[in-house]
Amino acid sequence: MQPDINNSSFFDVYQSLFNFNHDGCYALDKDGNFILFNKAAIEITGYPLDEALGMNFVSIVHEDFLEETIGHFKRVVNGERERFETVIKRKETGEQVNLLLTVVPIKVGDEILGVVGCAQDISVNKRLEAMLSGKNRILKMMAKGASFQEVLDEIVFFVESFTSSAHCSILIADQEGKRLMHGSSPNLPPAYHSAVDGLPIGEYAGSCGRAAFIKESVVVTDTEADPLWEDYRDIALSYHLKACWSSPVFDDDHKVIGTLNIYYCRVSSPLENDREIIEQATNLTSLVIQHYEAKKKIDFMAYHDALTSLPNRRLFDERAQKAIAETKVEDGEKLCLMFLDLDRFKFVNDSLGHSIGDRLLVEVSDKFKQILDKGTLFSRQGGDEFTILLEHTTKEQAQDMARVILETLEEPIVIDGTDIFISTSIGMSFYPEDGEDAEMLLRKADVAMYQAKKQGRNNFQAYDVMLDARAYEEMQIENDLRKALERDEFVLHYQPIVNLCKHEIKGAEALIRWENERIGMVPPDQFIPIAEETGLIIPIGEWVLKTALVQLKKWHANGMKDLTMSVNLSIRQFYQPNLISMIREALGLAGVEPHFLTIEITESMTMDVEKASVILRELKKLGVSISIDDFGTGYSSLSYLKRFTIDHLKIDRSFVRDIAENKSDENIATTIILMAHNLGISVIAEGVETESQLNLLKRHRCNEAQGYHFSRPVPAEEFTRIKVPSL
Ligand code: C2E
Ligand code: CA
Ligand code: CA
Repeated sequence: MQPDINNSSFFDVYQSLFNFNHDGCYALDKDGNFILFNKAAIEITGYPLDEALGMNFVSIVHEDFLEETIGHFKRVVNGERERFETVIKRKETGEQVNLLLTVVPIKVGDEILGVVGCAQDISVNKRLEAMLSGKNRILKMMAKGASFQEVLDEIVFFVESFTSSAHCSILIADQEGKRLMHGSSPNLPPAYHSAVDGLPIGEYAGSCGRAAFIKESVVVTDTEADPLWEDYRDIALSYHLKACWSSPVFDDDHKVIGTLNIYYCRVSSPLENDREIIEQATNLTSLVIQHYEAKKKIDFMAYHDALTSLPNRRLFDERAQKAIAETKVEDGEKLCLMFLDLDRFKFVNDSLGHSIGDRLLVEVSDKFKQILDKGTLFSRQGGDEFTILLEHTTKEQAQDMARVILETLEEPIVIDGTDIFISTSIGMSFYPEDGEDAEMLLRKADVAMYQAKKQGRNNFQAYDVMLDARAYEEMQIENDLRKALERDEFVLHYQPIVNLCKHEIKGAEALIRWENERIGMVPPDQFIPIAEETGLIIPIGEWVLKTALVQLKKWHANGMKDLTMSVNLSIRQFYQPNLISMIREALGLAGVEPHFLTIEITESMTMDVEKASVILRELKKLGVSISIDDFGTGYSSLSYLKRFTIDHLKIDRSFVRDIAENKSDENIATTIILMAHNLGISVIAEGVETESQLNLLKRHRCNEAQGYHFSRPVPAEEFTRIKVPSL
């Protein structure tokens, strides 16, 4: 008769459920001894049936979970149903197995005889869970900015938590990929650090060096026997490292960037689970190393100049600030901040191109690096500006250093076979006298550097308060001056030039005035030099000329038909390439004949005799008159004036001032007048303030005169009202 499911006994059904269950099924008596143990239970625990039966569950539960598990057991024996997780140790290997247990009492009538349970092996899930949370923990640490060391250590702990009684270490490959450096091994003896630090990467360099070399995992199950460990055996054994498995850590380009190593104190080879965890850990390590490498680069870039790799302004400020704080002023310690700016670098850049300019900057910074002590803070501020911080120094030492720096640039720098001569201007400021913080010292060194530029470049200057105040004022004036023309802040005043024979006004000298909102009335002596230096004199001078000629035209129209106009020219204007055409245009615009215009120049402008002769000749050709201003204060002699075609000489005010009281001044004046007349040049006396001066000049047949005696320079509308005092 075929067995029929409907006829089968209760017992058969439950026995099948028990025997063939995927989960481990077991029963315990009231004392906790196994009385039933299915096949799955045998597989999970590793205990054969005969050994399991009669054994107490206490002996297989992991110590850490024992108390809790016994508690559950007791409650079930008291009639409860329990579902809980626990951990047992497998027979022999001691490997941990995570179980989810469902346990119920065995009840016969009202009496409880024992417990029956179902054990689901959840080790795989547990592992995966633990791995995931371990990985997450490490990633989170990274994201939160934990240090490289902390994160590496965490990987090691992570690996160790999955491998029973193993020690893990991480080694990092150096830049050249030649050696392994100690990375992390928190649970290995400290002597291990130094033993592995600098381990060569090679075929026979222990398992670590070899794994990095052959780019594959190397498993040494017994370091005592393996020839690979020949050179390192003593060290390994002295630390009881009997087995070592090493795996290379790759970057995204499959370059070896480190190794992950697991050590055992017993002869041992990796199991499937170990391999899995090693794989996870090496991937993590790869991610971590690369992340921190990238971070290091970014950090470096944030604090260094990309072109020269020198510290940048930010790092300089931070370090300088620190150095200042550490300077013992009370012991007389000093600190020098040098500000260097290459001379005419812009010219190199513009003429030879930016890539040569860049290379020059690198070469120059290398040269400086060579002469500076290794610890000296040297930075590129940007462009062609560098800063150096000299600690524990004196003024003399700093100056010596500045000299050495200037000297190193005496030799040309050769780029692509071309000799490039470059020099630098250096400004120096000192702590504590010139400033309290890095910012102030930097500003002052910058000011001093400008002074060095002004001194003709290729030199050094220490900060000086007086120079600074002047420089600051000049800078302010320069700023205002730039806007003065468009704001219409200039006016011309006119001073009469009187013909001493006819005793009448022969001409006017145009003198510029600047009325600024902030500074008020600025005398020309104060702003003309700045305008000259900045080049602003060109547009300003053009405005003067045009305005003066338009005014002259008006006066001509109002009956002062023979009036001439004298206009001062500065040296920059004198040498401006389009001077002649500019004057011609101004004359044309105003509708004034050229012979009514007198150009006043000074002796110093004619130093370059060749060039000056050409310009003066052109001016003469144009038809304007030429006057030598401030005569006597320059170096030139009258005879030299023969070379130029000059119409007038203006005897400088300083000779006229004492002419009536001082015989030698009188002599100079009379000599000038005589010799000028001999050369056919007419003479104008400047700064005539008194009648006695005037009389004396007239006696010596001076042709014309100008000065407060007749009139101060006045606005145009007042000029026509000037009366020349009668004799
Ligand atoms: P400068 O060309 O020698 O002009 C004569 C200066 O002497 C004027 O000073 C004038 O006011 C002053 N002066 C005239 N008579 C007397 C006197 O009797 N006693 C004294 N103590 N001073 C007298 P100012 O106007 O202050 O001009 C100073 C200088 O500025 C000028 O010296 C000239 O070199 C320059 N300057 C003035 N206007 C211009 C201009 O439009 N262009 C250029 N390039 N320079 C100008
Ligand atoms: Ca003048
Ligand atoms: Ca003068």
